[in-house]
Amino acid sequence: MKKEEILKKLRETEDYISGQELCEYYGVSRTAVWKAIKQLEKDGYCIEALTNRGYKLIDKNVTENDVMSQVSIESYIDTKWAGKNFVFNKETGSTNQDVKALAEKGAPSGTLVVADSQLAGRGRRGRDWISPPGKDIYMSLLLRPSCMPDRASALTLVMALSVIEAIDELEDFKDKCGIKWPNDIVINGRKICGILTEMSAEIDAIHYVVTGVGINVNQTQFDQDIKGTATSLFLEGGNSVNRSKLIARIMHYFEINYAVFEQSFDMSGLIDKYNHFLVNRDKQVRVLDPKGEYDGVAKGINEDGELIVIRSEDEKQILVYAGEVSVRGIYGYV
Ligand code: ATP
Repeated sequence: MKKEEILKKLRETEDYISGQELCEYYGVSRTAVWKAIKQLEKDGYCIEALTNRGYKLIDKNVTENDVMSQVSIESYIDTKWAGKNFVFNKETGSTNQDVKALAEKGAPSGTLVVADSQLAGRGRRGRDWISPPGKDIYMSLLLRPSCMPDRASALTLVMALSVIEAIDELEDFKDKCGIKWPNDIVINGRKICGILTEMSAEIDAIHYVVTGVGINVNQTQFDQDIKGTATSLFLEGGNSVNRSKLIARIMHYFEINYAVFEQSFDMSGLIDKYNHFLVNRDKQVRVLDPKGEYDGVAKGINEDGELIVIRSEDEKQILVYAGEVSVRGIYGYV
């Protein structure tokens, strides 16, 4: 019997559950149950123990939304491979770096590293991702797709789709968030999630891909320099969100979406779903291309994950490739 099994049982039970019942249910001794309960308390769970009544998980939401641990995440994971093999770090430099190190040692596809805080979280093009402790999600997934390297950038979009599907199923966020192409999730025009995909490859073969995700979950305030563009699920929905469960749901959707991606190694089977969430769709955008900025109307993505933009100055259709480019709204961030 593992402690996460007891955790599951406590979660399901509204009232107290007796030690005897737990012993019988799992076919273990009272001491084994007691030890598991002690371990859960050590992990941060608040469990009330009453003589003659048994055990009860106190204030499930508050406790579980604040606590993120190996056990709490493991107890929610329901996938076959995505996030099945995972490592939890209370603090780390960057989860992408951790996954790269594991990949070099031969870790399998689907290995996930989750951290409670990052000291050197990164965004695209070497920019920082602010990663304070105790509130948010920082995680990176290792993939070993058997496709050509030029196909890998679409994995950023597959992850963005999986994150938004997991958030969209939360009561407070149904139909509230969108994807800002290619990889940011936004609510009310502000960013709650960024994704950074990195790859190790030769010209014609991928060694591995790392897709890192930062989500502002229960954060309540932001530094001056990102205040205008950043927000969190807590600030937008008014309730704290269970991080462990959210991670598991993202893995759940990722596994489903990845199976579709793998059929053709592009976005063709996911275009409609992705475009449904795209906030830029049919909107005026400014394309910040280092070779020259221009305005246009975004029409959606194609099967390669490129953004189809009708350029305003000549009505020409341009396919925007994510690599070096950012997209903004004409009047603001989105
Ligand atoms: P854009 O397309 O908007 O330029 P990007 O996808 O290129 O964004 P990312 O790599 O996702 O950018 O994220 C890095 C940027 O996000 C940083 O430069 C900073 O402005 C902003 N940022 C950093 N930390 C956070 C955070 N916790 N929440 C929201 N935004 C953040």
